[in-house]
Parts: sequence; C-alpha cells; structure tokens
Amino acid sequence: MGGLNVKNTMVERVLQIVAPHPCSGCGKVGTILCEDCKYDIINEPFSGCILCGSYTLYGICEAHASPITRAFTVGTRSGALEELINRLKFHYAKAAARPLADLFNEVLPLLPDGSILTFVPTVRAHIRERGYDHIGLVATYFSLLREMPLTSLLRRRTKITQHTATREARQLQVVDTFEAMDGVDIREKVVLLLDDVVTTGATLQAAALKLVGMGATVWVATLAYQPLD
Ligand SMILES: [Zn+2]
Ligand SMILES: [Zn+2]
Repeated sequence: MGGLNVKNTMVERVLQIVAPHPCSGCGKVGTILCEDCKYDIINEPFSGCILCGSYTLYGICEAHASPITRAFTVGTRSGALEELINRLKFHYAKAAARPLADLFNEVLPLLPDGSILTFVPTVRAHIRERGYDHIGLVATYFSLLREMPLTSLLRRRTKITQHTATREARQLQVVDTFEAMDGVDIREKVVLLLDDVVTTGATLQAAALKLVGMGATVWVATLAYQPLD
C-alpha cells in the first residue's frame, strides 16, 4: 500500500463523519439505502446453491455432503447490494451495517426456537485496519432485530488471508482456520452462521464443520453470492 492510498483512506474516514450518505443504489442523498432500492434487492433474491450456483430450495444441493444443512443468500454480488457491502468493508461506512442487517431480516425465515446466532469472525488484520468487524456489526444489528443473543463460537487460528490465494490453496488453508471457543453448549441446536460474501464456500464450510463437530445443526446466511471466475 502506497502513501497515497493511506491519505485517501484518511480522507474517507473524515468524509464518512461529515457527509450524508448517498443511496448505494440510486445515489439519492439522505440514506445509505433508500426504500426503493431496498425493495429492488429483496425482490431479486438468489435462489441457487451457494456451492455450485444451480437452483435449489434449500440454498445448498444435497449432492455436496456439506456440513451446512440450509443456506440463505440475500442476492448476487451486484448493484446496490455490492455497493453497500463494499462501503462497509472498504470505505469505513459503518452505517451500511444496519441496512444489511435489515436485508437479512427480510430474507431469512423464522428460526427454530432456541437457535443460536453467530458469525464467521473476520481476519484480525482486517478488523484492525477497519476499526471494526464488519460482519460482526451486521450480526449485532440482526440480533437486535430478531431479539436473539449473538454468541461468539469460533475464533480464527491461521494468519493467512485470502486475497491472493488460488482456489486450491484456499481450500487447503481453510481446513484449520477456526477453533471452537469454550463455554457454550450448542449440542442439538440450530446455529445460524452469518457471513458476508460466499465465493468458493470453503471458509463457510470449514466454520460449519467445526460447529457440526460441536454437535450443532448449521444454517448459514450470507449477504451475497459471487462465484469465482
Ligand atoms: Zn436508492
Ligand atoms: Zn450445489
């Protein structure tokens, strides 16, 4: 990262405080996601398998022998949804977390009684850089909307980040990515695992596998689907 990027980043941090947000879809000033653009996203849900993209009722094909039982995805990574995610992840727009939680709330069904809410923890270097765990923020708002506590179940073990890894390298790396946090009994519970963007699904699968090993049934919810080219 060069000096210019660092400076731009600091300018963005300041602008984020003083400037009102334009809508991530239509650019209308006043709110980071206007009602019209919100309903456009909700009306175009992603109804494919998060691992192969083909149409399925449960968000994941039975053919994959995955630790994930059900999967829900707000949409494909495009348009206003992509812009909201990018602002939250790359432009310090914490205000994007609330409408993203709203979208989860619109898209997800009622959860079984006693379900436990958690999220895929973000790489620590990214939390340090942003000043917040972006998906943790979305999960916090979602937990308020659904009146369910948010529980930390997983911790990252590896320092490897995914930006430059190939598909094969990613799949080898992620197996050991997570370790369980002590103290919460999730046996025979449904755990809803939140994440931002699903590409190969390898990270989600590794996290889900850990939770299944702890005795849970795992449902996942992701904001956007973006297959690798
Ligand atoms: Zn709009
Ligand atoms: Zn599939």
